[in-house]
Amino acid sequence: MDKLRILHMYPAMLDLYGDSGNVEILSYRCRMRGIETEVIKHDLGDKDTDFSGVDIVYLGGGADFEQQLLADDLLGLKDNIRKAYENGVYFLMICGGYQLMGQYYKDSNGKKIPGLGLFDYYTVASTNKRERCIGNIVVETTLGDKKYKVIGFENHGGQTTNVKTPFGKVLAGNGNEFASSVEGYTEKNVTATYLHGPLLSKNPRLADHIISYCMTRKTGQPYKPEQINDKLEAECRKVLLERLLKK
Ligand code: GLN
Repeated sequence: MDKLRILHMYPAMLDLYGDSGNVEILSYRCRMRGIETEVIKHDLGDKDTDFSGVDIVYLGGGADFEQQLLADDLLGLKDNIRKAYENGVYFLMICGGYQLMGQYYKDSNGKKIPGLGLFDYYTVASTNKRERCIGNIVVETTLGDKKYKVIGFENHGGQTTNVKTPFGKVLAGNGNEFASSVEGYTEKNVTATYLHGPLLSKNPRLADHIISYCMTRKTGQPYKPEQINDKLEAECRKVLLERLLKK
């Protein structure tokens, strides 16, 4: 079987808080199941990035400055990205990457950065410093038919609204807006979230959910990743959930 191909967009610019670790974790968890991966990178100015056969499109988080710098380059890829999304390629987007796939992002200087418009949500950075969303966060989502607590931390001024299908319910922290009850955006082939960490380091079941979707799509057969040693992740999650949910 050919390799599982991950398109990592703007790794040099959208890598806030080590978000590129999500690509490492996906590659590692695939390798542990005997699935070879290939990471293709698209950076600012790269021409002819090959979208064919891509299984996952990944964007990390970034500060307003980087988001402004890459906005035009991203818009130039609109057709390729839309085609990939409509063909069922999995989209994993963190924070700034999440924002840029919506209608627009109005940054902290009031500059409106056009988004790709793949999704209906839009984001406006709050001018009220007290509304900056910073801290640990726990979001309850549903993966397959099971609920799952997703743990991470958030640091964004952007307040995202018009979110038709949120990624989950906020159990601790802020979410799409300051003191919001919902966080992120989801579809069957989309996870868009404000959670840094990197996200997948504390949430192995989410990583495996993405791998399961991609391998099922690629092979045409239902794919259930075999269990691997997640002892450390489980210990870390137990401590964090007790602390963050005061359970
Ligand atoms: N610059 C955006 C904001 O402040 C995104 C930040 C991020 O990616 N952590 O909302």
